[in-house]
Amino acid sequence: MEPNTFSYWERTAFIDNADVIIIGSGLVGLSAALHLKKQRPALKVLVLERGFLPTGASTKNAGFACFGSVSEQLAMLKRSTEEELTQLVNYKWRGLQRLRGNLGDENIDYQQHGGYELFMDGDKEHADYCIGQIGRLNDLFKDAIGHSGIYSVADAKIADFGFKGVSRMIYTPYEGQLHTGKMMRTLLNRVYDLGVLVLNGCEIQTVENEANHINLVTNQGNFKARKVILATNAFANQLFPGLKVVPGRGQVLVTKPIEGLKLKGTYHFDEGYYYFRNIDGRVLFGGGRNLDFKSEETWDFGHTESVKNKLVGYLQDVILPGQPFEVDCWWSGIMGFGEDIHPIVKQVEPNIYCAVRCNGMGVAMGSLVGEEVANLVFGTNP
Ligand SMILES: Cc1cc2nc3c(=O)[nH]c(=O)nc-3n(C[C@H](O)[C@H](O)[C@H](O)COP(=O)(O)OP(=O)(O)OC[C@H]3O[C@@H](n4cnc5c(N)ncnc54)[C@H](O)[C@@H]3O)c2cc1C
Repeated sequence: MEPNTFSYWERTAFIDNADVIIIGSGLVGLSAALHLKKQRPALKVLVLERGFLPTGASTKNAGFACFGSVSEQLAMLKRSTEEELTQLVNYKWRGLQRLRGNLGDENIDYQQHGGYELFMDGDKEHADYCIGQIGRLNDLFKDAIGHSGIYSVADAKIADFGFKGVSRMIYTPYEGQLHTGKMMRTLLNRVYDLGVLVLNGCEIQTVENEANHINLVTNQGNFKARKVILATNAFANQLFPGLKVVPGRGQVLVTKPIEGLKLKGTYHFDEGYYYFRNIDGRVLFGGGRNLDFKSEETWDFGHTESVKNKLVGYLQDVILPGQPFEVDCWWSGIMGFGEDIHPIVKQVEPNIYCAVRCNGMGVAMGSLVGEEVANLVFGTNP
């Protein structure tokens, strides 16, 4: 078979002369495209995505608009300073405001029912420790999110939700939830409206820095651009092996609708490794990556029996005890992690920039990460 040859029309209208090519159409790549076009409407911006849909984390996540549970923050403090953590909380908080501002709460079904952290009966010591640290975290984050009393004890509400085996609970009114699919559809529509072209089914195989342009070799043929943004998150070191990003798979289920469901909000336990929420009268439940970090350190989508059994077990015993339910569907998504709690936003080679590694918190921070890399392209960042 002959290699794909583009027509003159295809070359001039779709392929050639992009000012900026963005690799990856996740939340970060599209947010970068949005910011580039808002700042410079005449810029020719092309997004190349290997999946039929975005195929990483952005259409696979849980849709929590969260800045972190108490035990998660305390775990982060083991590998960062108070100042770094506070900056990160502020970054996530501002990222969420930017996401909502860019897309509009109605378009993404944003709802703020608050966030809860659960502690199981057998976890008393850890619960006491976390509850004892609430005052410290509230002081630390007061300015970062502009509210006082961010976290408080909410044991009295445990019975309202019908949980079993949960002894303590912490609440924050400042967390919300959204519809991930609508978020990505709205973001795509925003960038289309500004004249960004998004081409799917196009896998970048190598990125070559030539004298006057960047050459991208893809399964569809070669593309040229003046500048390139790598927004491939978990898959970043497939193209640039020096980038310190480790993949981490997240497995998720959604139940069929449950009559009289009492849950309303976002819920976490075990340092954020498990998370669940209500959606359309159903329960979305994900996590368990910590059962076997090594197996979940993969670029492959899929499931393991151990995680599936654990999630179903928690639903039966803790979240929906005595309530019949059926799992409607399962899926997985791949996140990008690293030792450092911050994302990587930097120039990797002349005229090639990257914005990757949201550490599983990209709904919160992705809009700002995209904006930051766009500013780098313009040369307006330090
Ligand atoms: C199960 C799960 C639950 C989560 N829940 C939450 C949550 O509740 N709250 C929160 O804040 N965050 C959550 N996250 C994290 C969040 O979804 C991510 O941090 C965020 O979506 C990352 O966006 P991104 O654009 O950087 O990456 P991605 O969405 O992964 O986008 C990268 C894109 O690059 C494409 N790509 C890769 N390589 C190539 C190539 N060579 N050529 C072309 N295209 C390529 C991929 O197909 C992909 O579409 C969750 C993630 C998962 C998986």
